[in-house]
Amino acid sequence: MPLPSFPRLLPLLAFALSARLGAQATPDARVILITFDGIRAADFFGGLDTIVSAREEDSGIYDLERLRRDYWRATPEARRRAVMPFFWDSLAPRGMVFGDATRGSTVRITNPHGFSAPGYQEILTGHAQPDVTSNDQRRYPHRTVLEHVRATLALPPERVAAFTSWENFRFYVASRDGAIFVNAGYDSMPAALQTPMMGRLLGLQTRALALWEGSRLDAFTGALALEWLRRYDPRVMYLAFNDTDDLAHNRRYDRVLDALHALDGFLRELWQTVESLPAYRGRTTLILTTDHGRGHTPRDWTDHGEEVPGSETIWLAVIGPRTPDRGVVADAQVTQASIAATLLECLGLPGTGWSPESAPPVPGACVR
Ligand SMILES: [Zn+2]
Repeated sequence: MPLPSFPRLLPLLAFALSARLGAQATPDARVILITFDGIRAADFFGGLDTIVSAREEDSGIYDLERLRRDYWRATPEARRRAVMPFFWDSLAPRGMVFGDATRGSTVRITNPHGFSAPGYQEILTGHAQPDVTSNDQRRYPHRTVLEHVRATLALPPERVAAFTSWENFRFYVASRDGAIFVNAGYDSMPAALQTPMMGRLLGLQTRALALWEGSRLDAFTGALALEWLRRYDPRVMYLAFNDTDDLAHNRRYDRVLDALHALDGFLRELWQTVESLPAYRGRTTLILTTDHGRGHTPRDWTDHGEEVPGSETIWLAVIGPRTPDRGVVADAQVTQASIAATLLECLGLPGTGWSPESAPPVPGACVR
């Protein structure tokens, strides 16, 4: 066969190049996965809940007048905006938000438990893991999407990083120690990796007391993660926040809303940072979700688990340059298991076939 002339080779060359890029992820795409522990879809989409806040004994609200001033508005749309103004004004219009029951959408967990470890393993491995039945500090043999990304893209460990408020994530984010970079609970980190700001935060975090021993306050997790992002240019970050769940268990509905409002402030700072860095601007997808729902009633809104209806219902937001600008999506049924594959698609990696049992990505959430 005669050799094709050079102009005829060009399309072949372009095809070979695009096939190669397809296998290696879109150059420079970045994903930041964020979880807010145990935030109910009712609060995320509707803000201040009239059922929960009706009686002080049920809600634990300390100053109802103050809370109503801060968060009560006439419509659910205005109420959610009062709690999370940056998310609803600036992020939601740039992506897809799932799980608003009033619009016929649901996001469900597929594990039967409705508490944290099974939810996080479902998010990170792409399916419910039958052997994850407690919140024990235990290593599981399930390869996570974070490990998969690091191995597939041959990245140094610091470029796939998890910053988490709850210490147990040390065991849940990967199937083996050292598979990705993890800073969990009150962990310090090797001095050689610290910037002066990180050193200051790591020193202060142990003196700022959260409600429970196993978690640091979210403000430290967020600030450390932002500093890491500026210094190490991670392709994928996982940020797991926790304050909201602790405050709900302690029956302080007012402080749950305040914590969500504070997390919205973090999202503003994160997005401003993303927009200020050429490596991230226009290339970064945020995926926001939660590990489980909680009860619907005045008594059980604080709780979650197999016995508490509502624990199975969550929410999901995918915000970024590859996601259609649709805001709240009506009439969509999505599962927690589909988040891992969606993350891969947002990076430009194949969302199917990466793990034998993993669920497919949320259809249309990340266009390759
Ligand atoms: Zn909990």
